[in-house]
Amino acid sequence: MRISGIETFVAKAPTGANSFWSSQAVFPERVSLLVKITTDDGIVGWGEGGQYGPAEPVASAIVDVLGPRLIGEAADAPVRIWEQNYAFSRDFGRTGTYIEAMSGIDIALWDIWGKSLGRPAYHLMGGAFRDRVMAYGTGCYYPEDFRDTDAMMQALAEEVSAYAAAGVTAIKIKLGLLPVEQDAARVKLIRETVGPRVKLMADANHAYHSATAMRMGRVLEQFGILWFEEPVPPEDHDGYRRLRAALDVPIAGGECEFTRFGFREFIGGGCVDIVQPDVCACGGLSEWQKVVSLATQHGVLAVPHVWGSGVGVAAALQAIAVVPPTPHTALPVDLQNEPMLEFDRTYNPLRDGILERNFELKDGAMAIPDGPGLGISVKEEALMAHVTQKRSVGAG
Ligand SMILES: [Mg+2]
Repeated sequence: MRISGIETFVAKAPTGANSFWSSQAVFPERVSLLVKITTDDGIVGWGEGGQYGPAEPVASAIVDVLGPRLIGEAADAPVRIWEQNYAFSRDFGRTGTYIEAMSGIDIALWDIWGKSLGRPAYHLMGGAFRDRVMAYGTGCYYPEDFRDTDAMMQALAEEVSAYAAAGVTAIKIKLGLLPVEQDAARVKLIRETVGPRVKLMADANHAYHSATAMRMGRVLEQFGILWFEEPVPPEDHDGYRRLRAALDVPIAGGECEFTRFGFREFIGGGCVDIVQPDVCACGGLSEWQKVVSLATQHGVLAVPHVWGSGVGVAAALQAIAVVPPTPHTALPVDLQNEPMLEFDRTYNPLRDGILERNFELKDGAMAIPDGPGLGISVKEEALMAHVTQKRSVGAG
């Protein structure tokens, strides 16, 4: 079974009236880079490369640079292919675009290998610890008109009420666009709206330096927030360590980190209690396993960052399946030693519209697909409605 063709799809969905802000930027569109690999015996595998950065450079890295070297290679050897790609691109691509490209290729190869054997990818990774995972909803971004404070606060209360009504038992809220005092009022409103039993986490998208993050962390402690995500820029390991030592709220991060080598410094350097690699950016399922190994060696729980298309969600579910309870107990508890699924609740037709069967929560939990490979079928026609660039190498 050899790789015969590789196709890339840059898919874009304008958010229109649903656009929103994080601390870093407004999101006028959702973007995904999907990879489709075909083998000489007709098996097709899907992957996703990258998370919210530009997709065209990732497509170019696949089609112009890495892909031509892969045609004719074994399609059921994702770890070896990963190492060959990394060795080839080490001198110019140890983070960013090339690792995102390698992630998409890697996920597609795990999908192919699983399909060729009729087994889910998690089986090939050594077996699942769970067949379902509790989900947390990611939302509570800032609206376009965040300067209208009254309207923003009312919309926020309505948003979290809708999550609670839909059976979501955990919600992650966004911080860092506004001054600490104003964001503290948002946290207070959310806690008062959902009550004490809904789990809340908070994500600053690296908005603060460590002194400001300390002030925000003290606020989060008052409202029982279960993690403080990306409080400081990803390069500021000293800032991470300072916060982790001083605050009671657990510190989380890692969506901007790449490969086992990046996570060796981040996890091994004592930066986080919860590490959040994005499978579509950190190096795919092959590298995910190595990062999970690092995490368990340091008593850190791995909870993947998930913000992509339906293919990215599917890859994350396979990744979550193989995370051991950290540490083991007879009855794992969410976020104490059991991972959760990040279930992005912002507008994204690439997440909700391109698979034969959409991902849905049941009693706040997501079943982990147990079909071959990633356990999903991509509706290519539905995907093509969003595709702005399609490229290929080899015979697709
Ligand atoms: Mg985040």
